[in-house]
Amino acid sequence: MKFNTALLHDGVDKREKYGSTLTPIYQTSAFFQESAEDLEGIFAGKNPGYCYTRVQNPTIAVFENRINKLEGGIGSVATASGMAAIFNALTNILMSGDEIVSSASLYGGTIDLFRDLENFGIKTRYVQNNNKKEIEDAINERTKLIYAETIGNPCLDVTDIDSLAAIAHSHGLPLFIDNTIATPYLVRVLDHGADIVINSTSKYINGSSNAIGGVLTDGGKFKWTAEKYPMLKDYIKFGPFAYIARLRAGLQRNAGACMAPQTAYLNQIGLETMGLRMERQCANAAALAKHIHDKYPSVIVNFPGLESSKWHDTAKKILNGGYGAIVTLRVGSKEKAYKLLNLLELAYRLSNVGDTKTLVIHPASTISLHSTDKQKEAAGVFDDLIRISVGIEDVEDLIADFDRAFVKLSEDS
Ligand SMILES: *Cc1c(COP(=O)(O)O)cnc(C)c1O
Repeated sequence: MKFNTALLHDGVDKREKYGSTLTPIYQTSAFFQESAEDLEGIFAGKNPGYCYTRVQNPTIAVFENRINKLEGGIGSVATASGMAAIFNALTNILMSGDEIVSSASLYGGTIDLFRDLENFGIKTRYVQNNNKKEIEDAINERTKLIYAETIGNPCLDVTDIDSLAAIAHSHGLPLFIDNTIATPYLVRVLDHGADIVINSTSKYINGSSNAIGGVLTDGGKFKWTAEKYPMLKDYIKFGPFAYIARLRAGLQRNAGACMAPQTAYLNQIGLETMGLRMERQCANAAALAKHIHDKYPSVIVNFPGLESSKWHDTAKKILNGGYGAIVTLRVGSKEKAYKLLNLLELAYRLSNVGDTKTLVIHPASTISLHSTDKQKEAAGVFDDLIRISVGIEDVEDLIADFDRAFVKLSEDS
């Protein structure tokens, strides 16, 4: 099955009781069982079935299964948000005293979370993405995992997943990748050696910005040991399933950040068109980036699809079918950036990416507000920078919107 066919058919439950073509929303908190013994069996994990939606729910289970097929994993767990997916992914194995080695080019919310984790004794050492020496120098006996985003948001650097996985594995460490901005349409990171992949479903998977959610998928190839990961000691007996089994039986139900059944339903609708949307959005982004790059030489256009991008070669190697749908522009000053944002008529000014509609924002004053100047610079956030999440509009209209805004901007200054 090829990609778009698989999005529609792979992992779908075609035995739905009444023949519903989408798994219905099981909008219930708890599930009745015929006998006390049945309920005991479900709680003990001996019988299939459902007891309580925080633990599992049929709508969520089908969504997880579809994502798992898409990513090529051994198990997926859906969460209340992308941030919850990251939090659960990390704290499933990390203890006080442990360390993360992470690319410094991260989503602002993730940097904030890593700071929160310091209060629990978990330290993050930031390194320049793809810099083998810096990464290896940062690794020590306390390091428990390597972390990066495939396409850094909003830096738009592209991680050489194969090389990073090789570094991680040579030190006996798993590689965790946030693939939200690239999506499985552009790359299945587990195939490139990543061990755990995280997606915020709020973005391209849902596609229409109608529900916050997240999901993580385990590739099942990492050899977990109780010595290095004492949190997994009771689960090592499950072999490759140790990580996902602990998450499912432990933190996922105990931290309580489960996905809502309605969100799982909306995400399944979104998932079916993700390939088509990404194809269109990547093409639109490439056209808009090239247009602005060619027409406005004073603007610094950052897009991995442009040959001028430092990450173009890595992007060509890692991504297929496009270069993502985020473009950033440096326009010379914060004042100009604000003016440009306010002059755009089609693009929505809001804090989100991955919508069908084009979205724009000034990251320095919003999503990266709590980052230090050093963190901002490492994450590719500058005062004169705007981020564009390119939608599925007709690209002529988008180009016209930006042209109109740039003309007004130059008239005003
Ligand atoms: C949005 C985003 C997140 C957080 O996801 P939420 O669903 O908003 O919690 C994490 N990583 C990246 C790269 C994102 O863009």
